[in-house]
Amino acid sequence: MRILFFISLISATLFSNILKLPHEEHELKNGLKVILVKYPSPGVVSYQLPVHVGSRNELEKGKSGFAHFFEHLMFRGTKKMSGKQFSDLYSKLGAENNAWTSLDETCYHGNVATKYLPKILEAEADRFQNLKFSEKELKDEAGAIMGEYNKNVSQPEFQLEEKLFETAFKIHPYSHTTMGYREDILKYGERYKDVWPFFDRYYVPSNVSVILVGDIDFKKSLALIQKHFGKWKAKTLPPVAIPSEPAQTEARSALVTLDKPTQTRVVVAYRSPAFSTKNNENAAIQLLSEVYFSVTSEFQKKYRYDKKWLDSVDGGYQPFLDPGLWALSLKFAEKGESHVEEVLKAVDKLIEKIREEAVEQAKLESTKKRFLNAALTTWFESPTSLAHQISILTNLERDLGVIDRFLENISKTTSDEIKATASKYLIDTNKTVVTLKGAK
Ligand SMILES: [Zn+2]
Repeated sequence: MRILFFISLISATLFSNILKLPHEEHELKNGLKVILVKYPSPGVVSYQLPVHVGSRNELEKGKSGFAHFFEHLMFRGTKKMSGKQFSDLYSKLGAENNAWTSLDETCYHGNVATKYLPKILEAEADRFQNLKFSEKELKDEAGAIMGEYNKNVSQPEFQLEEKLFETAFKIHPYSHTTMGYREDILKYGERYKDVWPFFDRYYVPSNVSVILVGDIDFKKSLALIQKHFGKWKAKTLPPVAIPSEPAQTEARSALVTLDKPTQTRVVVAYRSPAFSTKNNENAAIQLLSEVYFSVTSEFQKKYRYDKKWLDSVDGGYQPFLDPGLWALSLKFAEKGESHVEEVLKAVDKLIEKIREEAVEQAKLESTKKRFLNAALTTWFESPTSLAHQISILTNLERDLGVIDRFLENISKTTSDEIKATASKYLIDTNKTVVTLKGAK
């Protein structure tokens, strides 16, 4: 019930001030950002502590996957508490507690009863300031990461992604996945001395935010955060010189072959712009993905549902801090195995059409409406989903207004802008195609 009420409340004000919920933004003296949003989830609060560091920051050779490795190490205890005591505390309070790492971000998050929030904030502040673990614990964690890698690598999608980014990027650290290279992970156990500079560099107040969404009191929450994080010493983040990827000059392709039988998968990717709400390029790419490749698109209707040549189509837009990739992922059905070339030709033709023909006005308007409704439904579904979305978007542009700006861009983008953006990015010299084939 609460969810339905919520959506209709938000839909009524679709095109401006999306975030109608009471909210506040603060910055502590040490640079820590605080985002507080009141959400009608009686007695419960969702918390997120994003760190502005991801595999994008892994510049040194041999240290791929360090942001993710560090995410794991953050559960290994502090000067006051062992890793076990830390996880016992969360279980005792009935708090969910997890973390994830991406190309651009590392995020620690969970949900807890509001009455236990002081204890959680105390523990979180402690691990951000007083992390401590032994060499043996680091070795154990290195083993866990190797296990995670092995599990991932058994999935064709992971191998496809690894090859795609390695082929599309030669200099920029997006060339390796967040997981990192196997040969680097194998040496993690010997990295006890090397992980601390990473912590000292990136885990500083000005690089971290505390996001609370739920049943909270603004004044009390801010005072709590001040109490536990306020003494954390400010430190200037040294400038990070992430190399820019030079312009691509010709189409690239690569092949992954597996030694076991599996369905053919192809990903057709193009270099895409960095996330920004200063222009409509990201909104245009999001919209063209929706119009031409979503479940309701003519492409899916023809090749997935009528001919049944494809099992799945994902023309997914994903935001990146630096210029990244827009990728169309195709998974072929058994019936489609003999039509791979035909489908790829159809994709090329469709991309050409996107560059040359403007989207029909009515089609564009209905797509915008559908996208905005879906975004608002999923984003505002629960305090957790909203806190997650805030964590991702404020990592890209570091204020809460980014939510409104991005959705406003979606609503303002014109057919001509979509055409212009496609003509700028969806071109052959920006293209990388990776094919994955299984054993016969
Ligand atoms: Zn992990």
